[in-house]
Amino acid sequence: MQQARKAWKGNPVSPGIAIAKVFLYEPTILAVEPREIAPTAVTGEMDRFQGALAQAKEQLQELYDRLCIQHPQQAKIFAAHQEILEDEELLEEVETAINQEHIGAENAVEQAFDQFAQMLAQVEDPLIAGRAADLIDVKKRLLRILMGKQEKRLDQFDEDVILVAHDLLPSDTATLDREHVKGMITEVGGSNSHCAILARSFLIPAILGVEGITGALQDGWKVILDAVEGNVICFYEADEEKAYEERRDRFRQQQQEEQTYLCRPGMTKDGTPIQIGMNIGSDHYEGEEQAYSFIGLFRSEFLYMEGEHLPTEEEQFAVYRNVLERAKGKTVTLRTLDIGGDKTLPYMELPKETNPFLGMRALRLCLLHPDIFKTQLRAALRASAYGKLQIMFPMVGSMEDIYRAKSMVRQVQEELTQEGYAYDKEIKLGIMIEIPSIALIADLAAKEVDFASIGSNDLTQYLCAADRMNAQTEAYYQSYSPAMLRILGFVFRSFASEGKPVSVCGEMAGNPKAAAILVGLGARKLSMNYASIPAVKAKLAGMTLEEMEGMANQCLTLRTEEEIRRYVDDRIF
Ligand code: PEP
Ligand code: MG
Repeated sequence: MQQARKAWKGNPVSPGIAIAKVFLYEPTILAVEPREIAPTAVTGEMDRFQGALAQAKEQLQELYDRLCIQHPQQAKIFAAHQEILEDEELLEEVETAINQEHIGAENAVEQAFDQFAQMLAQVEDPLIAGRAADLIDVKKRLLRILMGKQEKRLDQFDEDVILVAHDLLPSDTATLDREHVKGMITEVGGSNSHCAILARSFLIPAILGVEGITGALQDGWKVILDAVEGNVICFYEADEEKAYEERRDRFRQQQQEEQTYLCRPGMTKDGTPIQIGMNIGSDHYEGEEQAYSFIGLFRSEFLYMEGEHLPTEEEQFAVYRNVLERAKGKTVTLRTLDIGGDKTLPYMELPKETNPFLGMRALRLCLLHPDIFKTQLRAALRASAYGKLQIMFPMVGSMEDIYRAKSMVRQVQEELTQEGYAYDKEIKLGIMIEIPSIALIADLAAKEVDFASIGSNDLTQYLCAADRMNAQTEAYYQSYSPAMLRILGFVFRSFASEGKPVSVCGEMAGNPKAAAILVGLGARKLSMNYASIPAVKAKLAGMTLEEMEGMANQCLTLRTEEEIRRYVDDRIF
């Protein structure tokens, strides 16, 4: 019997559509049993280690050679891994363990590499701390060789597959068989993870953060991966597959054409400038500088989620400063900690709530824990001396929220002045518009803040009372609903009357059709994931402002989201 249609939602980090069979990737398990060796076996064990070392270097050289011509940037991972195998201190640690502790080569490798990885992970510079993952990757390579385990290869498939995994290591993804891997789905990983970056540069559609997907799908099942909207669909009807096939083919062709727009300025066909910004989640962002004119959303919470403790003021300062210096004078919009809802911190007990999305999330949590909030504000303000920073508060629901957040900034500014720190005295303070109660008083809010950015992801969920994480409420989560368009139009008009900038930084901004409606409704600034930039610029360049306004006005006369979507689909392809 055919099972009922099933769908899951995730974070589309590399756009595209794929339909293929599932390949469940479970990395080789490398359980190292403790093993002592006799003193007479030391020489033999040392030889085993040296042999494994030589083989690992050979493998890495082969991987590097294969990748470096077309993807020199990605190939660097393997050059870095080779360097790890040249690290004298590390190698000495392994050899001493075999020689003096008389333990097996596998045990010695595991012990030394883990110890070095732990040390690295504690270093304040996040760039260095991030190298711990590479050490673990190299350790696994050595262990696989020593234990005679075959590397689970992702570089050769006989048929098209969609790769489904809990997580993918840099070396897994760098060697992918790009002809046959049509898509990737993982349970963990953010927009700035290695996996996401590689997927984008290889133009492989990918959805990350789909909870429980490895347990829900089986090898060989056919799935639709819609990495435009962020949906994974299984047990669908033939007509849905056909519709997706058509969308996929259109998407591929378009993608080639759109890439030519990446570095052009954002503007409509008749020359109205639309500023295109980029959303980032860390200071490791990549991309062509001409592609974006500002950083419209720096999701600072990733810095808190990746570590094992609350980031200190100095740690945060280093990251924010790095982001600003890399931005080379472009405005960077730092969003203060947005934790709660679906985002938790492994080291911090958050209050147990029945409805966490309606609970002590983001700014509310920061106001409840002024120490955490102040530490971030101090780091941000100090970093503001190194570039063009603006600070934005998430989950603002009322004017009181604005007053309280601003008062906190003033307190911190006074402290810093007294302590003699330099910071931008004119720093702009703004809000996310993602709760209807603030959107509906945008005229008042616009008088009190310097700028705003519309978080359409949350605004949709709160306006429609439909959980953004719940695939079952997908039909109720209507970003194109008449209510949503009215409220968006009101926000744009309110900020325009005050002469203050308002952007959109939710997923709508990165969706080309939605972007055209947003511009028609009054948006002049859109901020999105890097991968979405070419498609949005191309779409905006293909329509005049008048056409977009006409379309938006017509949408405002329609009664249901379905009517609006149909109307837009008929006009924009
Ligand atoms: C939003 O809500 O639209 C937004 C940009 O913020 P996040 O997705 O991080 O909640
Ligand atoms: Mg939000």
